[in-house]
Amino acid sequence: MDNNNLVCKTCGHSHFAKGKLEGYATVRPINKFFSFGSALTLTFCKRCGEVAAMKVADPQKF
Ligand SMILES: [Zn+2]
Repeated sequence: MDNNNLVCKTCGHSHFAKGKLEGYATVRPINKFFSFGSALTLTFCKRCGEVAAMKVADPQKF
């Protein structure tokens, strides 16, 4: 998988990087008492930092 078809809506740059939000930024189910959570994966512009996509890393857990 690559991100060559992505173009930043803010600056027009076409190179993106991916990062992960973990720890306090994990997504947890609403109205459930389980302690699990899932990290968020961000795809962001390497030039200006605009976030192009945000994904839950483990949606099947929900
Ligand atoms: Zn940008």
